[in-house]
Amino acid sequence: MIEVPIRQSWLGTFSNCPEWARNVRYGLVRERETSDMLRGNMVHAAIEYCGNELMSSGVRPPLDEAIDHMDAVFHELCGSVEVWRHELEEIVDVARDNLTVWYEDLFPSLNPVAVEKHFRFPLDERDGVRVVLEGTADWVEDGVIYDWKNPSRSYEPWEKQRWDIQSHVYCAAFDCPKFRLVALVKGKMQIIEIERRVPHLEALKDMCWSIVELLQSDLKVWPQRWAGWHCSPKWCPVWQAGECRGKHLGPTPW
Ligand code: SF4
Repeated sequence: MIEVPIRQSWLGTFSNCPEWARNVRYGLVRERETSDMLRGNMVHAAIEYCGNELMSSGVRPPLDEAIDHMDAVFHELCGSVEVWRHELEEIVDVARDNLTVWYEDLFPSLNPVAVEKHFRFPLDERDGVRVVLEGTADWVEDGVIYDWKNPSRSYEPWEKQRWDIQSHVYCAAFDCPKFRLVALVKGKMQIIEIERRVPHLEALKDMCWSIVELLQSDLKVWPQRWAGWHCSPKWCPVWQAGECRGKHLGPTPW
């Protein structure tokens, strides 16, 4: 049996652009650490701290303690940021505002059974090949999975309900049809309810098999997807490395 492991986050990269995903898969490019990632990591770490404290002691830690934890994470990680998209003070302020709204408006009603829960499970098998999906769920409760996002603007709920891949994977991994996407945006919270049932799982399997075909094809290049925000020197590491469109258009194309 040949096992083909696929990370959930890589499926998201693939849906943006297969050629970008190929470069990541084979270690041909490295994604640069950005201040957006720092902001997200800070909030994630503080929420994880709250969840672990609650599960181990049965008591919700005070907000001040969670902010102290977040500040410590900031000092640990800020030196590794390579691309500052916002001022350092703004990153810290937004992270604190996001954590505060989560803590005050959502945390009181939460009771996790696991936080930052790694999973690895066989999605499907065909003709001697097994597809294995991997990832880490932010927060798992009895009957619902939560995922925290810290985007710069809120989402269109119908887009996430129609197209979001992460929810397909997590609901399959934990055999749980309910997924709540929580977007923390500059101190405001948006909760998007998503359901993924058996038909979604079957569609996910087909999508993964279409990718396995590519992985097994030994093609030197995969389809390029230009249309979208992702295809620019600001976001795509392949472009930044001077490959693909970057080879022709350079670092300042427009
Ligand atoms: S430059 Fe555009 S088409 Fe090329 S890998 Fe990046 S996102 Fe894909």
